[in-house]
Amino acid sequence: MTRKSDPAPRTAALFEGLTAHTPMMQQYLRIKSEHPDVLLLYRMGDFYELFYDDARRASRLLDIVLTQRGESAGAPIPMAGVPVDKLETYLAKLVRRGESVAICEQVGEVGKGKGPVERKVVRIVTPGTLTDDALLESRRETLLAALLPAGGRAGLAWLDLAAGRFTVLEVDGDEAVAAELERLRPAELLMPEGTRLGGAALATCLRERPPWHFERDTAERQLVAQFGVKDLAGFGCADLGAAVGAAGALLAYVRDTQRSALPHLTGLSTEIRDEALLLDAATRRHLELETSLTGREDATLAGLIDRTATAMGGRELRRWMHRPLRDRPTLERRYHAIGALIDAGAAAGLQDILREIGDIERILARIALKTARPRDLAALRGALGAVPTLQAALADLDSPLVAAAREDLAGRPDLHDLLARAIVESPPLLLRDGGVIATGHDAELDDLRSISTDTDRYLLEMEERERLRTGLAALKFGYNRVQGFFIEVPRSLAERVPPDYHRRQTVKNAERFITPELRQFEDRVLGAREKALARERQLFDALLDALTAELADLKRIASGITLVDVLANLAERAVSLDYVRPELGDEPQLVVEAGRHPVVERHLDVPFVANDLDLREGRRMLVITGPNMGGKSTYMRQAALIVVLAGMGSYVPARRAVIGPFDRIFTRIGASDDLAGGRSTFMVEMTEAAVILNNASASSLILMDEIGRGTSTYDGLSLAWACASHIARRVGAFTLFATHYFELTSLANEVEGVANVHLDATEHGEQLVFLHAVQEGPASRSFGLQVARLAGVPREVIASAKRYLEALEQRGQAKAPARPQAELALAQAAQPSEALTLLAATDPDRLTPREALQLIYELKSRLGD
Ligand code: ADP
Repeated sequence: MTRKSDPAPRTAALFEGLTAHTPMMQQYLRIKSEHPDVLLLYRMGDFYELFYDDARRASRLLDIVLTQRGESAGAPIPMAGVPVDKLETYLAKLVRRGESVAICEQVGEVGKGKGPVERKVVRIVTPGTLTDDALLESRRETLLAALLPAGGRAGLAWLDLAAGRFTVLEVDGDEAVAAELERLRPAELLMPEGTRLGGAALATCLRERPPWHFERDTAERQLVAQFGVKDLAGFGCADLGAAVGAAGALLAYVRDTQRSALPHLTGLSTEIRDEALLLDAATRRHLELETSLTGREDATLAGLIDRTATAMGGRELRRWMHRPLRDRPTLERRYHAIGALIDAGAAAGLQDILREIGDIERILARIALKTARPRDLAALRGALGAVPTLQAALADLDSPLVAAAREDLAGRPDLHDLLARAIVESPPLLLRDGGVIATGHDAELDDLRSISTDTDRYLLEMEERERLRTGLAALKFGYNRVQGFFIEVPRSLAERVPPDYHRRQTVKNAERFITPELRQFEDRVLGAREKALARERQLFDALLDALTAELADLKRIASGITLVDVLANLAERAVSLDYVRPELGDEPQLVVEAGRHPVVERHLDVPFVANDLDLREGRRMLVITGPNMGGKSTYMRQAALIVVLAGMGSYVPARRAVIGPFDRIFTRIGASDDLAGGRSTFMVEMTEAAVILNNASASSLILMDEIGRGTSTYDGLSLAWACASHIARRVGAFTLFATHYFELTSLANEVEGVANVHLDATEHGEQLVFLHAVQEGPASRSFGLQVARLAGVPREVIASAKRYLEALEQRGQAKAPARPQAELALAQAAQPSEALTLLAATDPDRLTPREALQLIYELKSRLGD
């Protein structure tokens, strides 16, 4: 990238000849030289300032004014700044744009010593290491990941620093790496310098790190020291050299940026890839698990099934959803727990209790990092207070999983009591202004506070006493900033003061005195407020230390709460949405009675038509035909979503579902240009098809929708045929194959295990009604004209379309596959002559079914119905 050179000197050039700069700029440049790649926010009083290149960049990114500050080394200094109390807002903007920011604070005492006040970078905020609630999404993890390619394998480590979850995994091949990165969507990805990420570009910030950070020995030493263990055997990753390397590099980066102890990172868990039902990158997108293709959050599976009461429950639910499991006992335990909660009608009551509980998983991380705020501790106290109620509510449930969660909840009433005693009922946002530690927790603090708050009362009392003692009714107490406290006596009576009165000052008509008692009082009062604040900070830190020491127990309680939340949520959803417990079969099969698409059924004004699905040995592939808008993709996706839901331990939208063991789900659905990646529709389509053909096994579930659309008719048909036939003959995977190529329906006659089903439409008066019911056998062929006629296209246009098609067919230009599209193009015209022009101008293969239908409806209204 070339940049126009600015008239002002660039930072790098300024490092030379450091001595020419003012002392402050020398300090700045020295610190900046240690952080060349990140924005440096340099604290100056009430502002964080940026200089030179950083200032230019920040002013662009944040839309803040770029000014100049005096001169240094004979040139003006470009400068931009943000007020200290707005830091969070600006940080949020910067990290969202992938920037990392070093926060440089004043750590020395202002005005002490010569030269600028001492400053130090206290932490580096990076997109993947956020822990501040204001910068995080509550229901989505913010992950930092590290990837170490090693031959054909790759080690992957990731960390949710805000929750202290540290995980590693080893995978084979680029496709697997891409799939896992799509699942995790890390905010930041570390890789050894000089390595390249295979596969599609990723929407994440890549950071190159020195290769030796990834070396196994270095990495292992770092990890062992962090976790305080002898070796890594206990974490199940001792043999996974690449994963350990990645984890070590990740830890080094976190240490580098956080610059504080990380006591909440106490270990890591090792994932085994094959324990999960694998979803490749495209499938995660196509199934709209968490992000919808249209950008509607509520039209995703997560949007539908997440009614968890706590944010940590929401995150756990997403982890379950993104990693459906294959282990039958685990899944049965989850189903069983949901059943027990449903039978007891317990979900709503539990959710009421849970709603009062905050995000203590993240609070615990902040406690460990010493960044917890007063309200975090109040929230933790609330949670600990609710735990016994939650436990009691779970008491009579017959479920091993619930019982395990209940055990995790085994409370720490002592910690609740500690917090109840230590923290005021509703603490302020910040510790800075005090008022956080409750009265009665610490005698010294109480004392300091009573001094500063009770000054007036105490003075009045003393004044009264002194009047009595001296018999001088005219005596009064006073205070001024220069002299401090004094006892004022009219000049005429000054002779009569007792001997312990020491003259302090003479003013007009009066003498001012001080007594030893008053002096003592003065010493205590002055600075009592500062001392009280300092004491509060000390007590707060001690509290954080005390809680950090109990982190293991507190984390256990948090995970118990999280599990209850997820289970209660799944039970509530199962009842509200009318789901059924899936049956896990030993035989390979996917047999669904009256299955529904969980998301589509919630967004329809009309009743959803439930459909059966019967895939089993001897009937492994269904070729699905039917009119556009008939419901083919809905039917296919619902099959996959039912398998995903079952794999996360949830009930499923059906009357009955028997699900055999699946290893992976593949999808090739819809065609959209990957503009960012610079790949055409056809290229995307073929890349996805290649992934499927190369990786699917007989235990996979494959959804293929309209493959071949992206190219010319003959190419498309040939490719679709070859794909279907390869899958049916060679792979033997369970496959739903939707197509507009009617030729493919003959596959059923040629290959064992292939059957046809179709979706239908029917005329109802002037209306065309899609039945959305799946029926055995292939569809009839003439939907295009039927649709057009029902849409109100004049009879003579239809007749002309027919003639034109026949002519085309005779010339061999329009084989059957192109026919529906050609018909549609004709149907758009009001006059036969216009139809010909339109047809010539249309590339029918490019029309999506929805677009085509929309055109028809538009025509219908144009023709006055
Ligand atoms: P196709 O893939 O055949 O073009 P879709 O699956 O995209 O059709 O379905 C088109 C629309 O029809 C959906 O958006 C939905 O509104 C409706 N639909 C699909 N399946 C059903 C069903 N089983 N019951 C009710 N409506 C359905």
